[in-house]
Amino acid sequence: MIEILIVDDDKIILKLLSKLISQKLSLKVDTAISLKELKEKLNYKTYTLAICDYCLPDAKKGESVDLLLNRKIPTIVFTDNYDEKLREEILNKGVIDYLVKGTPKITNLIIDVIKRSLKNMKTEVLIIEDSLTDRLIMKRILESMLFKVFDAPSISQAKEILNSNPDIKLIILDYYLPEENTLEFIYELREKYKKSELGIIIVSGVIKPKMIPILLKAGANDFLQKPFSKEEFMVRVTNAIEMLDLIEELEFYAYKDPLTELYNRRYFFEEAPKLWNLAKRRKLNIACIIIDIDDFKKINDTYGHDVGDIVLKDFAKKLQNFFQREEDLLARIGGEEFVILVTYSSFSKLLEHLENFRKYIEEHPIKLENIEIPYTISIGVETGAKNSLKDMLIDADKKLYKAKLKGKNCIVY
Ligand code: GH3
Ligand code: MG
Ligand code: MG
Ligand code: MG
Repeated sequence: MIEILIVDDDKIILKLLSKLISQKLSLKVDTAISLKELKEKLNYKTYTLAICDYCLPDAKKGESVDLLLNRKIPTIVFTDNYDEKLREEILNKGVIDYLVKGTPKITNLIIDVIKRSLKNMKTEVLIIEDSLTDRLIMKRILESMLFKVFDAPSISQAKEILNSNPDIKLIILDYYLPEENTLEFIYELREKYKKSELGIIIVSGVIKPKMIPILLKAGANDFLQKPFSKEEFMVRVTNAIEMLDLIEELEFYAYKDPLTELYNRRYFFEEAPKLWNLAKRRKLNIACIIIDIDDFKKINDTYGHDVGDIVLKDFAKKLQNFFQREEDLLARIGGEEFVILVTYSSFSKLLEHLENFRKYIEEHPIKLENIEIPYTISIGVETGAKNSLKDMLIDADKKLYKAKLKGKNCIVY
């Protein structure tokens, strides 16, 4: 479980920060008011992250920070005043950041640093650099930012690491690697990974200025000239990661239906062929199920569009509860039309499950303040042995139509 420790001799700061972190981030927080108390606490427990005042009455020279770092607890230093030399010295110890009390919007800054640090702990970065010194320097900086770091002296070794660690999100790539074609490698990476899936930052010493745009056009996200300061490196890495996160978030919402929070039509038609091909390759049975709410127009006409929306949300929740397997593909593909693409081993069991679901919907009307709204669904099921996914969808839709003709609230397969 994640727990944050705050060390400060100012009781007001302890109280304020504890409240802020537990409210804004919903994280567990503990406090220590002196080096003495810190030592006592560390005797029996440890923390995910610490925010530590550099100067305490019983630890005037950062002894508490040193203790936390010795215990391998990632630490953010919080100080009363800005001192260029001290800042340099503290950052070199390997703390996450150095924040000054009284800076405008300092509380937002603290929350951001904590959020970013917790995210970095789950983020994997790969350094490709032939110089051992440079590799170790960059590794140390990235580790102080809490990233999980891999490193390789050559492209061939990097490829092995990439293959066995598919979650790597960022590559720091040295432009000059002996006997290797870095540009070629960037092209190769970009064939496999989109810019939103994998970030590439090129670092280089001497380089012909005309090469820089070529590298960026080939698909590098950023370029950094050696030698660079620790802080510049940190900022560039953070920016690259933040950009990737932002794109990921945007893509997430582009694929979700905002009303029901189910996947949308677009997602379905992008993902369904993958599941279809996988099923073909592995010779798995696959079924396409289309579900449509019966007489939904009447619900809208009788109770209003808002209540119609509530019915859709209620249905989506029930649908998700019944079809929870991760490999199933579930989406809202039309107004009150939903599709599920599933693989199965026993068709009779699948049918039984669908029948249970149909009945469950029939028997569980929506309860609003003073009314109950019953509704039913019709289901069309088409199973494998079709030439294409498209044929399967068309046939499932035909069966749904038959279910409607038969009087609705039933399954046709
Ligand atoms: P059937 O039993 O034959 O399926 O009849 P139906 O009334 O359910 O089907 P029809 O296709 O005639 O009407 C569907 C209605 O769903 C029409 C449309 O206004 C409504 N609808 C589509 N999207 C939404 C939505 O997001 N919210 C609400 N409240 N209504 C929606
Ligand atoms: Mg080199
Ligand atoms: Mg309908
Ligand atoms: Mg319809």
